[in-house]
Amino acid sequence: MNILLATSELHPYSKSGGLADMVAALARTLALTGNEARVVTPLYRGIQAQFPEMRREDWWFDLPLGSKRVQAELYSLRPEKNLTIYFIKQPEFFDRGGYYMENNVGYPDNGDRFIFFSKCVTHLARYLPWRPDVIHVHDWQTGLVPAMVLNQRAHEGWGSPPPVCLTIHNLAYQGVFPPATYALTNLPPEYFTIETSEYFGHLNCLKSGIALAHCLTAVSPRYAREILTEEYGCGLDGLLRKRQNRLFGILNGVDYQEWNPTTDPYLPAPYSLARLAGKKTNKSELQKDMGLTVTGAPLFGTITRLAEQKGMDIQLAALEEMLSADMQFVLLGSGSPAYEHGYHELARRFPAKVAVRFGYNERLAHRIEAACDFYLMPSRYEPSGLNQMYSLRYGTIPIVRATGGLDDSITDFTENKTRANGIKFSEYSARALARAIRKALALYQEPGLVLQCRRNGMKADFSWERTVGEYLRVYDVAVASGLPA
Ligand code: ADP
Repeated sequence: MNILLATSELHPYSKSGGLADMVAALARTLALTGNEARVVTPLYRGIQAQFPEMRREDWWFDLPLGSKRVQAELYSLRPEKNLTIYFIKQPEFFDRGGYYMENNVGYPDNGDRFIFFSKCVTHLARYLPWRPDVIHVHDWQTGLVPAMVLNQRAHEGWGSPPPVCLTIHNLAYQGVFPPATYALTNLPPEYFTIETSEYFGHLNCLKSGIALAHCLTAVSPRYAREILTEEYGCGLDGLLRKRQNRLFGILNGVDYQEWNPTTDPYLPAPYSLARLAGKKTNKSELQKDMGLTVTGAPLFGTITRLAEQKGMDIQLAALEEMLSADMQFVLLGSGSPAYEHGYHELARRFPAKVAVRFGYNERLAHRIEAACDFYLMPSRYEPSGLNQMYSLRYGTIPIVRATGGLDDSITDFTENKTRANGIKFSEYSARALARAIRKALALYQEPGLVLQCRRNGMKADFSWERTVGEYLRVYDVAVASGLPA
């Protein structure tokens, strides 16, 4: 099958979260399994210098954006057989210090930037000599592509466009803009209605995609069920319930080429299930490097965006309660200054037990996964989550709240004693998390159980090779289904 994917971030060229990992791994696995995948993504600052082998394509975009016209160039890379990455070069929009924001403030022209990007995606889908069987878009940044494709079919002579699938990575980010922004789409009024992109008078890019894509996926089965409820539906649960028969939940996979403790180039001491001794070395090296006391006490870790979604409020409060016990904690994160301050304070008060680093650091992320005994992920909601699955492969026992992909990937001792791979709690509160940490401290005293839990985790297979078939089945449904239901 030929699949054209479109994403606002793509590992290793750009990444702010799981979206970048997911699209990269999905595209690579599609290519590996005999399909042809092409991915469209913006050319952000620094990418071209880092990948000088990038080629300029003989292609020139000159597209309307409201009353203006905007030009862009196309660059490409072919990192593997059957895989092409297209970069949209539009320096005014994409050659900036951040992807979506700077200093925690969103760019005021994000609507312009991603409406333009969606137009480029639609244009490529229509005019590339290579014909996609399916267009697969991701999140709000490309949420208007289904409307653009349908409009070109209805009014602009595009005979038989491919169906569009939309993956929801996080329903909380919808791309909502003042109504005047709709003019930038150059779409007729029929795509700005209550049934399509209009949301309380505003333009809602994700809503448009949910209404008009042929098929929808969410990044775990439980999240696909959760977003149908008012509690998790972020105001779109009604529309999602309407489209329920075209909504599929598929848990994200892990790229085990990147996340493998046996071959991980970032680790001081690679290790495996058969030779776990290396894990201890990684722990003591990290303790030294981060200024913690080198001790056998259980080490807990978190690598995260510092956002409310990630349960940072209850985590701070639970750690406050638990740090009098014999335990240590490391954090790598970036995001809300208030949370940074909270963790900074914690580290100041418990210098031998708590170490925190702010910013984005791929190497340190790998080292923390390898060094820790337990990984904390108390998310308020978690569409898929990746770090709990990385933790499993690194023999680091996840402690998670039972939501979204965390619930789908982690089995607690109370659910199944022999298959347990982590610790799970339900209530969103510091008290419940503190209780889960206490359970971890007790578990740590039982080396046999720790080993069993680690073994279950390290042997688990969340590879994309297992998952890719589910996406191919959704593509088949989209191709067979004709117009959106
Ligand atoms: P989300 O997409 O909601 O941020 P996921 O768990 O799906 O959460 O994916 C987060 C990805 O980003 C993981 O690969 C994680 O390791 C990585 N990550 C998050 N914060 C950092 C950071 N500060 N430094 C390095 N990697 C990070």
